[in-house]
Amino acid sequence: MLFPFYSGYALYFLFSLPALLLGLWAQWKVKSAVNRYSKVRSFLGLTGAEVARRMLNTNGLYNVQVEETNGFLSDNYDPSKKVLRLSSDIFRGNSIAAAGVAAHEAGHALQDQSGYAPLRMRAFMVPSVQIGSWLGPIIFFIGLLLSTPFGTNMAWAGLILFGATALFSVITLPVEIDASNRAKAWLANSGVIYQQEMTGVRSVLDAAALTYVAAAIQAISTVMYYAFILLGRPRRS
Ligand SMILES: [Zn+2]
Repeated sequence: MLFPFYSGYALYFLFSLPALLLGLWAQWKVKSAVNRYSKVRSFLGLTGAEVARRMLNTNGLYNVQVEETNGFLSDNYDPSKKVLRLSSDIFRGNSIAAAGVAAHEAGHALQDQSGYAPLRMRAFMVPSVQIGSWLGPIIFFIGLLLSTPFGTNMAWAGLILFGATALFSVITLPVEIDASNRAKAWLANSGVIYQQEMTGVRSVLDAAALTYVAAAIQAISTVMYYAFILLGRPRRS
């Protein structure tokens, strides 16, 4: 028996600790970058709402609405409603951080416009991920407890269901990185953000990208942990 179930907790930490630490570090980096650059007003002084509006308009996306929403870093683009929601700090703020985050969200609208494949795939996966993320582990552990061939099959089904969550977090990576690349390119070319201000934009957006990398590694390591439990336990037939 290579991986006995009773040592599962130690094994779990072995699998998840590096990703967990990376995640905490990335979150700290995002917070400190946002804190720092939300206090620095951009030379042009456009608000996040104005930045997003300009970026959308220059790309012909007059139909996409820009709205204010509650919550810290709750900014998002809703492809089904064609609405770009910016938290108050970003919507009203005229800082370098506000410009960067607003342009990133507008980047998602541009992806939607161009039919960017990973964005479509991610939207398509949302329902199965919503179910799989909670039902997968339940089916997995019930199957494991049954200790029968049927239970083993059930555990594999739970693992695959949960695996969709990991796949989702991997597909999220190109979506997020591409949105930030579009934001950086537009901000620099439009003159809304000057070249010497781009350092701030980059540090906010790159730190945010790192949190998505950490989340993907975390999801993959959880799936691997489940697989090792299943493969390592004694077989009965
Ligand atoms: Zn995003």
